[in-house]
Amino acid sequence: MTSAIVVGSGPNGLAAAVRLARAGLDVTVLEAADAIGGGTRSSEMIVPGLLHDQCSAVHPIAAGSPFFDEIDIASLGVRWLQPAVDCVHPLDDGSAGVVHRSIDRTAEALGDDGRRWRQLFEPLVANFDGLIADATQPIVRVPRHPIAMARFGLTAATPATVLAKAWSDERTKALWAGVAAHTLYRLDRPMTSAVGMMLLVAGHAEGWVVAEGGTQTVADAMVTDLIEHGGRVETGHRVTSVGELPPHDVLMLDVSPSIAASIMGDRLPSRVRRAYARFEHGPGAFKVDLAVEGGVPWTAPEAREAGTVHVIGGFDEVVAGELAVHRGIMPERPFVLVGQQYLADPSRSVGDVHPVWTYAHVPNGYTGDATEAILAQIERFAPGFRDRVVGMAVRSTTEMSVYNANYIGGDIIGGASSPTQLVFRPRVALDPYSTGVEGVWLCSASTPPGAGAHGMCGANAAARALRELGIA
Ligand SMILES: Cc1cc2nc3c(=O)[nH]c(=O)nc-3n(C[C@H](O)[C@H](O)[C@H](O)COP(=O)(O)OP(=O)(O)OC[C@H]3O[C@@H](n4cnc5c(N)ncnc54)[C@H](O)[C@@H]3O)c2cc1C
Repeated sequence: MTSAIVVGSGPNGLAAAVRLARAGLDVTVLEAADAIGGGTRSSEMIVPGLLHDQCSAVHPIAAGSPFFDEIDIASLGVRWLQPAVDCVHPLDDGSAGVVHRSIDRTAEALGDDGRRWRQLFEPLVANFDGLIADATQPIVRVPRHPIAMARFGLTAATPATVLAKAWSDERTKALWAGVAAHTLYRLDRPMTSAVGMMLLVAGHAEGWVVAEGGTQTVADAMVTDLIEHGGRVETGHRVTSVGELPPHDVLMLDVSPSIAASIMGDRLPSRVRRAYARFEHGPGAFKVDLAVEGGVPWTAPEAREAGTVHVIGGFDEVVAGELAVHRGIMPERPFVLVGQQYLADPSRSVGDVHPVWTYAHVPNGYTGDATEAILAQIERFAPGFRDRVVGMAVRSTTEMSVYNANYIGGDIIGGASSPTQLVFRPRVALDPYSTGVEGVWLCSASTPPGAGAHGMCGANAAARALRELGIA
């Protein structure tokens, strides 16, 4: 029987494992941490019974993932829940930019900018299935839905600051910049609209949904399927060298390029080693999870109903904050992402105490404490918030990289979203998953299509491995 080892049980490692096991391979997943899931773990952290997503939380792309469709992840126990409002970007005057799942409701709320919003998103949402099928593959290939991809690509290639000129209202500009800032790169560079556009298109198609019972259910579902297909997962097993592994035909590495280089040692061709050494990491995340009695008292009423709130202020503040972080400078008022998953999934709360998920964009390797900056930003748009905090758990960039070795310097997106790395990830090569060693594949978020709990990097890499074996 052909055998495979998968190093790492993040959503990509598990997706690779599931695809290989379903194709008849004998699959073993080796995970360094004591729990499965990588960036899809959830647990109690502060108050008994209060459930926190430890990393990924909001899932418009995972909900549209072609691989999750293929394995019918709903039948494996994942249920997506829709908050009343998808995303809100509050401003200092109490007003806010608001994204609803419905384009009509969003356009209506955006006033004069609504018509343009509809023009931009309606055709893309109408072709969402084709678009997501192409966009979750390596960019360097012939798309199966060229018209939808061309329409998307033209906008995606535009710097986010340039696309912002489409909007006349400060609320829309700020809202757009906040969504675009998920790319974690300075927003005046080409391609910085790509991530924001995809999040908005997927949001209108699928919603900025959360997983009932926590994101952990995504990992649990894949492990259930893996075991049903004869596979297994071993936790608490950090792989440091390929030499220590039992015999195998296929090796999938759900790790950062530098970790892959270290595991493969001399077996990696020197051109690939050099490329992996050049791989650029993105800014860091500073994580603060909170237990909040009565929820966050946002001034903007829409934010009290939103699954996601983008906290930083106006358009200029978003652009300046992301530029500072890109340059290695900690902004006084950083971009803070706030998740209120409990609004869609009340089972996560205990009585009137609710889990509130936050993190701030900080420079890669930032050694300071951003807790106060995060709390101050939320208080700015929700006076009285601090008095409601009954507990918190903090993870600095260093602690993030201990929690998961892939988060180098706190980089949670598997590598910088530079224009080059958005197209050629992790190196300039026709086959981005190939490590140059027969049977060994990189399958983490450092490969196309990049960050997110969608499993598509792993599924694509496994498809390549199976083709090489002549199985698919
Ligand atoms: C704070 C935060 C918020 C996020 N928010 C969202 C969100 O809302 N929506 C979204 O879609 N995405 C979000 N993401 C991103 C998403 O979680 C990642 O893109 C995704 O988890 C990447 O999956 P992966 O399988 O490539 O790697 P990972 O999830 O990083 O998993 C890799 C696994 O490999 C293990 N590993 C590493 N080295 C070794 C080794 N040597 N031996 C054995 N095991 C090893 C690690 O322990 C880890 O379990 C967020 C991430 C973070 C951290």
